[in-house]
Amino acid sequence: MQKYQIGLVPGPVSIPESIRQAWNTDYASSDLEHEFFVLYQENQELTQRLLHTENDIIITSGEAMSILWAALKCTLRPGEKLLAVSSGLFGEGFADMAKSFGVNAQVCAFDYDSVPDSQKVYEHAKKFRPKVISAVHCETPSGTLINHESLAELGSIAREVNALFVVDFVSSAGGAPLDVDECNIDIGLLGSQKVLSMTPTLSISSISPRAWEVIQDINYQGYESYINWRDVPEREYMPYTHDWQSMKALNISLNNIIMSEGLENVIARHDESAKLCRRLALEMGLKLFPKSQEICSPTVSAFYIPEKFTWSEFNNALRERGLAVGGNYGSLANKVFRIGHMGSQADINLIQNGMQIIKQVISS
Ligand SMILES: *Cc1c(COP(=O)(O)O)cnc(C)c1O
Repeated sequence: MQKYQIGLVPGPVSIPESIRQAWNTDYASSDLEHEFFVLYQENQELTQRLLHTENDIIITSGEAMSILWAALKCTLRPGEKLLAVSSGLFGEGFADMAKSFGVNAQVCAFDYDSVPDSQKVYEHAKKFRPKVISAVHCETPSGTLINHESLAELGSIAREVNALFVVDFVSSAGGAPLDVDECNIDIGLLGSQKVLSMTPTLSISSISPRAWEVIQDINYQGYESYINWRDVPEREYMPYTHDWQSMKALNISLNNIIMSEGLENVIARHDESAKLCRRLALEMGLKLFPKSQEICSPTVSAFYIPEKFTWSEFNNALRERGLAVGGNYGSLANKVFRIGHMGSQADINLIQNGMQIIKQVISS
């Protein structure tokens, strides 16, 4: 176990004291108490406000990967087609996951330091005629974000080819502008340990009426399936015992932190933290990984590891001084590192202190 003075890993992030209180309470069985379902419903409504949607909200136990699987398994049978729009590791991951259970998946691939080009996606989708199109709002390993306009274009393309539009916004929702209904997102995926500043214990999905039709038709019944979560607060019945402490924590995060600060203000705080992080980084000579500032995410920044260090040398030097940042995976491993500024990390002082340590290490 290691707790660093300054934690700037892009999730899980440090959990604020007010949220930690949720785990100090002893609750009865979530299956049996009306009070639990009242809390569940309140969290559904708060999430609808967070995501700008009237779609159903499903809140399940487990880390966000569980709903990436759910979104695929509930909408695709073996042999059916997925078009995975990808400019990064999570984008590609959708295709790999789908192929593992026999889906005919194609990747509409873009460089990791760029964002998807809607025209190319349109051409690919017209030819391939997928049943589902997946995209990733913030590619956390690359530090990039698809802006509102482009995400809305992808949503329109999905409508035009009559595909469901599945979007992973695990590391962006709440910290970046996002409008699920304007972007025609049929299934939207959010995790608890990123902007919501919680433990990695809950997953949140927004599900459109079109998506429900497909989910009912497929009728997938696995552990992570959405199918038995429809109308949960109304029926007061769930497929498994829920995590009441986390449900309470989610309520504190959404209600007492995000909504009480104001969603617009929270998004502005992320934008300011991101801009400060990147300005200080460029000033000390770091090189941005994404091709341009315009496609950078307000929740995470990615930079090339300074040439005079290997990743492990750089990482160790930062850790010795109390700073933890994120490394990378796949083709970005040992090449690109990441600084999280999401949720509780979107804090000007924290970013300033963290960047000061990076500056010391670079100039040592
Ligand atoms: C964090 C994250 C997930 C969930 O993955 P874990 O690494 O298991 O937390 C999914 N998609 C994106 C874009 C993420 O940033």
